[in-house]
Amino acid sequence: MQNDDLRSLVNSICNNLLEQVDAHEDTTKEQIVSYLRESANIISSIKHSDVTSINNAKLVFSDAYKDIAKASLVSYENTNGKFEELARMHGQTLKQCIEKQSDLPSIAKTLDKIQTHMLDEIKKANEIIAQLTKQVKTLEVKSNIDSLTKVFNRRALTSYLNDICSKKTTPEDFHLLVIDIDDFKKINDKHGHVAGDKVLIFIANIMRKTLRDGDKIFRYGGEEFVVILNRINTKDCLRITQRLLKIVSENKLIYKNESLNVTMSAGSTFLVDTDTPDSLIARADTALYKAKKNGKNQIFSENAHGI
Ligand code: GH3
Ligand code: MG
Ligand code: MG
Repeated sequence: MQNDDLRSLVNSICNNLLEQVDAHEDTTKEQIVSYLRESANIISSIKHSDVTSINNAKLVFSDAYKDIAKASLVSYENTNGKFEELARMHGQTLKQCIEKQSDLPSIAKTLDKIQTHMLDEIKKANEIIAQLTKQVKTLEVKSNIDSLTKVFNRRALTSYLNDICSKKTTPEDFHLLVIDIDDFKKINDKHGHVAGDKVLIFIANIMRKTLRDGDKIFRYGGEEFVVILNRINTKDCLRITQRLLKIVSENKLIYKNESLNVTMSAGSTFLVDTDTPDSLIARADTALYKAKKNGKNQIFSENAHGI
């Protein structure tokens, strides 16, 4: 990654934050912390020398999330304003009640009116929250980052493979792995779905730390990942993958005082001239199937016919 790219990304994060704080005096500490956490997550998913992912991260910040953040701050502001007004009315009514100690039916009527207003406001606020949640979901669909593991998502993989297969770069330099967690269903069944999610994050983090900067990690679906290793021969691809599988099997995830052991299997192949995204993935999938059949926690390599 170029220093200039990084500087400009950090600047755009800072500017967005300052804009939000300037525009809304009542921005809370929680909102700022949550924005910074999200920024850290996105930065940690950026690979060196990967300008596309930096640009995508910038886009996420400068457009969509900014608008949603603004909308949610405005909606909070409006709701808070209305509640302040209602609380003032409530206070006045109580004062009247104490001062006059009379006209109880009219005071009861006013209190009833205030309560109806409050319920109305809560309903409106809930509607806005539901709308914003829907917008965040739409953004996640449009984004190229998997929201759970923060690696690239399947959408990003499709676009990346379409690009690579149409360009036809030097075949043997480009290796693709399909990696599948072994017996993941048992982990969910024994420790619960939340533990399963933690395992997915744990695996993604190990992959990020173990692989090189130029390698790309995608969440392909449920408990399956696709990894692209560039500028590498088949022997090194096998060596690196075996190392990755070993690190995963030797590290334990502690969840609720229990240590979870996880292993994974991998199928690998390399790109040839005639490949389409589907043929490439299908070959790696066949290799993965053989790795599973052979006893799991291992890699199997499948080359294009005749190579
Ligand atoms: P194998 O070793 O043959 O791959 O067995 P497996 O149990 O890993 O494979 P199987 O396909 O039988 O089960 C995969 C499970 O992954 C089932 C599904 O509920 C779970 N899963 C898929 N996506 C998620 C997710 O996002 N979070 C969690 N916690 N579980 C998921
Ligand atoms: Mg699977
Ligand atoms: Mg599995």
